[in-house]
Amino acid sequence: IPVAQLTLDQAKKEIAPLRKQIAQWGKEYYEQDSPTVEDYVYDRQYQRLVQIEQRFPELQTPDSPTQQVGGEAESQLTKVRHEIPMLSMGDVFSIEELMDFNHRQQENRDVDVEPEYNLELKIDGLSLSLVYENGKLVQGSTRGNGNIGEDVTENVKTIKSVPRELPEPLSVEFRGECYMPKESFAKLNAQREADGQPIFANPRNAAAGSLRQLDPTVTAKRDLDTFMYYVPEYQKLGVTTQSEALDKMRELGFKVNPHNRVVHNRQEIEDYINEYTAKRDQLAYGIDGIVEKVNDLETEEALGNTVKVPRWEIAYKFPPEEQPTVVRDIEWTV
Ligand code: NAD
Repeated sequence: IPVAQLTLDQAKKEIAPLRKQIAQWGKEYYEQDSPTVEDYVYDRQYQRLVQIEQRFPELQTPDSPTQQVGGEAESQLTKVRHEIPMLSMGDVFSIEELMDFNHRQQENRDVDVEPEYNLELKIDGLSLSLVYENGKLVQGSTRGNGNIGEDVTENVKTIKSVPRELPEPLSVEFRGECYMPKESFAKLNAQREADGQPIFANPRNAAAGSLRQLDPTVTAKRDLDTFMYYVPEYQKLGVTTQSEALDKMRELGFKVNPHNRVVHNRQEIEDYINEYTAKRDQLAYGIDGIVEKVNDLETEEALGNTVKVPRWEIAYKFPPEEQPTVVRDIEWTV
């Protein structure tokens, strides 16, 4: 039944098993790194839950999956509290929905000018936080449930693209994505199959399973990589826009994805989406969409966050892929 036609009674009956199902899929995906359904199946049910809660606000509960980030931290790994929560991200599935999001964002700020946006690729991995003190890497952690993540410092030190020391004595937290390149994923799964071990469902789960290891020597063998894209306390870097923050991170020696672009209108946004929808398969790493961020960091701060997602960024998700990516005979580009 379409959500618009549901009665309150029908919605009440549907919502509990729907939440239970989504929570179960979330556990498998975030905590066990082994999803049992495709992302688009999860996304469809999740969207339905969002719509039901929007239509019947009296059915909203704080423990609904729509109010919670990720999953719980793995019990055997040391826990880390994130002073600044690591959030999830809202998503849209069409250019029209993206434009609606932008218009609502403008209306809330009560301004007429379209803000400048920084567009980035949405890397299909898991969020990573790197904390530096006086220029030295002191902590690496996962997002966990957004407030409590897992300490993976020793594992992170095995990743080549993570600088142990910065050229400046900064005490700053950097955030980004840890991922496994497509080719490494194919090799790892081939090896696991040959060894009679269970294979990973996709590169995202392989990256998560490899980073969240108790033994760093296992992580070291897994060929993980990173793209860093966010500095919560941007003032510490003396930058005023997201695109400058990315440039500064490059200067400091982090690996930053080279495909970001500053845009100003719908046409430029559509061009970027079309370009990367077409180039997606040639990239050496998985992307599941593009991320649009308000470029001005003061505006970003003013827009703030909901309990689950920032109001200053949104993901445009690609339609589900029809066939598994072919990983042979392709010249990968970075
Ligand atoms: P998300 O992973 O879709 O989006 C938020 C994340 O995007 C951020 O935490 C960050 O790590 C990442 N990201 C990548 N590139 C970025 C960039 N350039 N800038 C900023 N952030 C960037 O959100 P989520 O809430 O973690 O998870 C939802 C996703 O997980 C959906 O795609 C859903 O399909 C999938 N999922 C699937 C299942 C399943 O069973 N198949 C279960 C749960 C979740």
